[in-house]
Amino acid sequence: MHCEIVKTLTEYLKDAEAAHGHLCAGQILGVRLAMLGLQELGIEDPHGKDRKRLVTFVEIDRCATDAIMVVTGCRLGKRALKFRDWGKMAATFVDLESGKAVRIAARESSKALAKSLHPELENKNQQQMLAYRELQNDQLFETQWVKVNLPPEEFPGFKGERITCAQCGEGINFRREVRRNGKILCRACAGERYYEPLEESRDPEESGDRVIG
Ligand SMILES: [Zn+2]
Ligand SMILES: [Zn+2]
Repeated sequence: MHCEIVKTLTEYLKDAEAAHGHLCAGQILGVRLAMLGLQELGIEDPHGKDRKRLVTFVEIDRCATDAIMVVTGCRLGKRALKFRDWGKMAATFVDLESGKAVRIAARESSKALAKSLHPELENKNQQQMLAYRELQNDQLFETQWVKVNLPPEEFPGFKGERITCAQCGEGINFRREVRRNGKILCRACAGERYYEPLEESRDPEESGDRVIG
């Protein structure tokens, strides 16, 4: 498929460096991974004419993730970026227009390949930064066509009703509630809490105007 992405690797690397704070091997890998995803899907201008076409799943929260956000324009705050905390250097790009999806994963062998390509460099980061620009896509990445089930509430533009948790009273958007024994609960109250309260939360009327802390 002929696909002319609006920016070059060098231009995206400039953007990625500005957004991320530094240029590193992870940025280069992330930019190339995302560009390959766009290319496979035939998405040329993800910030312009194609800006509503793409949803991206990322599987790691490292440098490359910032670069993937820069290239795709998919952001958490736009509901176009989905995070699966799997610790894997991989991302899946979903074209909402065609329904096609492609998962791109960095090959485990790419690190050793980077090292062998530039033995003259002592620094591993420098070896990688150079090699990740030079290596071919299929040397760096594994590409797999996949099917992603994206229910309506996962779409960027989804507007759902807001309901409240029967236990804590907090509002829940986008059908993230859990229904259990006829009760509507938020995920925290349903047992998925990632935090433990240090004190019992107080009824605002009881605690009055006291400022704590
Ligand atoms: Zn970095
Ligand atoms: Zn709750």
